Amino acid sequence: MASERQGPGRHAPDRFSFETLNLHTGAEVDPYTGAASIPIYQASTFHQPDFDHPPEFDYARSGNPTRVALERVIAELEGGVRGFAFASGMAAITAALLLFPAGSHIVACEDIYGGTYRALTRVFARLGVEATFVDATDLDRVRAAIRPNTRALYLETPSNPTLRIIDLASACALAKERGLVTIVDNTFMSPYLQRPHDLGADIVVHSATKFLGGHSDVVAGLATVANERLGAEMYLIQNGFGGVLGPYDSWLVMRGIKTLSVRMRQSQSSAQAIARFLQDHPKVNRVYYPGLPGHPGKAVHDRQAKGPGAVLSFDIGGADEVRRFAARLRLPLFAVSLGAAESILSYPARMSHASMPPDERARRGITDGLLRLSVGLEAEADLLADLEQALQAV
Ligand SMILES: *Cc1c(COP(=O)(O)O)cnc(C)c1O
Repeated sequence: MASERQGPGRHAPDRFSFETLNLHTGAEVDPYTGAASIPIYQASTFHQPDFDHPPEFDYARSGNPTRVALERVIAELEGGVRGFAFASGMAAITAALLLFPAGSHIVACEDIYGGTYRALTRVFARLGVEATFVDATDLDRVRAAIRPNTRALYLETPSNPTLRIIDLASACALAKERGLVTIVDNTFMSPYLQRPHDLGADIVVHSATKFLGGHSDVVAGLATVANERLGAEMYLIQNGFGGVLGPYDSWLVMRGIKTLSVRMRQSQSSAQAIARFLQDHPKVNRVYYPGLPGHPGKAVHDRQAKGPGAVLSFDIGGADEVRRFAARLRLPLFAVSLGAAESILSYPARMSHASMPPDERARRGITDGLLRLSVGLEAEADLLADLEQALQAV
């Protein structure tokens, strides 16, 4: 099986720190040529000289050497047994959700990515898979939402965009006790900061479009699983539905991942400073960041993650304030997305969460004055100065 191939650079990763594992996963050298950068095997089919002995690769939807290398990299970094690369984060997420048959029920955290909310409420509902959204920071609410037909618990922590923290180890233990599969969207943290499999998660999903790709140049999704049974089921969906990542995009994500540790460290360090600056600023009503002492989930987050990450949200009032602020800001891109080399400011109420009904948005604190900042690699002092001058206009 393709996922079991071992490259010549295979190491014993557990002995290394993440920064080293980041580069030496065992999949970093091409097993066929020794190339130091995995080649882009831009091929859809593979010659089969002897049909009695099928080759490792036969057709690129089922397996492509470049994609398989990326799948091995993410499996090593997340500590899963097998990885899968998809054409987008949503393709990875929906592949995981397709594991459950009609008649199933899923409990999901309420502060969920807008696209996942839309997929669950508008697509999966139609397929007979029902979802209940609960405040999963309170495990009693999760427990109360579990029904006889509940099959999965779907979590995101820190959540998007209000950065609420769910206790992953406790949630996974509860799910295990009730026979549920736990799926964790780890996009905001990346495996550099948080490894949900180590805390008991069965499936980890990523929008690799964000921190893993890291350069705003590729849309991609990744998933990893904790055991071979789930691996076989995910492979059936990946191959059966065919939402695979192409070889060139697989290469781009691998290239991005090589600098994940240094990018994350730099962005997080600036994010810490920016969060403190915003918290003390008279024009800012509220800052959401798990690195701030007053954050209600800080103790839990510190226990399960190595740092607060590079994304923070803050509230500056309403749509008029946002309009004035965004017009003056010079450095961050004003855009959807996060986790890039450049800072990105986004406006959840009008962008990522626009498809969520307004009353639902309001209930979740996604006000018209809420902005989300993904801190990039610019000099911290320049970012602070830019935010300060733009806040003067508010
Ligand atoms: C962007 C994002 C997704 C969706 O990923 P795509 O690559 O855009 O399909 C899912 N979850 C989170 C937390 C995200 O930020």
